[in-house]
Amino acid sequence: MPTPNAHALLSASSAHRWLNCTAAPHFEEQFPDGTSAYAEEGTLAHAICELYARKHFTAITKRKFNAELKKLKAQELFSEEMLKTAEAYVEYLTEKAMGYVSKPHVALEVQVDLSDYIPEGFGTCDCVMIGGDTLHITDYKHGKGVPVSAYENPQMMLYALGALKLYGAVFGEQIKKVSMGICQPRLSDEASEYELAVEDLLAWGKVIQPVAQAAFDGPGEFKPGDHCRFCKGKAQCRARAEYYTAFSKYEDAEIAGKMTAAEFDDWEQADGLGAEVPPILTNLDVATLLTAAAGLAAWYKDLQEYATSALLAGEEIPGYKLVEGRSNRAFTSVDEAVQALVAAGYDEAMIYDRKPKTLSEIEKMLGKKTFAELLSEYVVKPKGKPTLAPATDKREAFIPEAKKDFEDLLNG
Ligand code: SF4
Repeated sequence: MPTPNAHALLSASSAHRWLNCTAAPHFEEQFPDGTSAYAEEGTLAHAICELYARKHFTAITKRKFNAELKKLKAQELFSEEMLKTAEAYVEYLTEKAMGYVSKPHVALEVQVDLSDYIPEGFGTCDCVMIGGDTLHITDYKHGKGVPVSAYENPQMMLYALGALKLYGAVFGEQIKKVSMGICQPRLSDEASEYELAVEDLLAWGKVIQPVAQAAFDGPGEFKPGDHCRFCKGKAQCRARAEYYTAFSKYEDAEIAGKMTAAEFDDWEQADGLGAEVPPILTNLDVATLLTAAAGLAAWYKDLQEYATSALLAGEEIPGYKLVEGRSNRAFTSVDEAVQALVAAGYDEAMIYDRKPKTLSEIEKMLGKKTFAELLSEYVVKPKGKPTLAPATDKREAFIPEAKKDFEDLLNG
């Protein structure tokens, strides 16, 4: 196994990006590594998950567990929520382990060699379980912004390949299936899972190996898309800028919801297209543009953030400057201001608003189970505001009242 290099050019976690845009790894080299409070918070939450898993699956003493937990709790970014998410993580692992006919082999924080597929590649699996004919890997995600799906997830598939290589020597031909689970408890009670046969996973590895090599060798091919979101060069990438500013390129864009060719023809006919291009955008044009320009707002925000940081660093962005944003007045000391009011004869009841905590805050305080026991009969979920989504979205379509009345009339 190669010595892991913390700065290996291609990582499994960025595989979604370099598999789509082979130019990204070398392009990103010129930008500094950034760290964020979110990333540091994730690292701490991971460490707590690992400790809880060690308590459950290994012979760590109570004393050692408490001492390590105390150290982790003393960190600035620690929050009580991390203990709950670690419990949820261990609950998931326990469920998986119990799904095996006999007790599986369980290994935590397993470093895997990915160099058969990615030059100099390595990675760490949060948990590997092997029993019967199945190898299962689990990855914990602390983020609550974007749900991460295990379905055809290249990071997970690479980890699975690495785990297969590591345990192949011991378990050999016994392993026929690989399952992968992403546990993201702050976003969902259910882990996202994906399973495939070992031979399919190995075949996928063969397909991506030359792509990884091309990305490693460089210069690669720039290809903007969804995967730009976490690219270090996303604000200054010319290819991405050209993509979002060249609207003529949108002509060939796919329609949201993946229409069949026949449906597309029908719609085109119904829309009266084909003869002259009208000066007004048709609904078909709107659909095409909505799909093609989905990342436009995010790209423009990245550009604004970059320009702001460049100006703050003393650089020039011609035609732009920094100004002071709006700010609201505030008391220098709320306590002293209140004391002054009380001293002036005002009743405290006039000064304070007594407000209960929000539903989410109370649920967080009680935990989901107690919350459900005590308060479920008082919870309603009003209908959400109609929101635009691609036809492929899993949620049921919202039917406007006018259309519903009309359909009710037709159906008698
Ligand atoms: S911003 Fe997108 S297109 Fe540009 S290098 Fe990064 S991943 Fe590739």
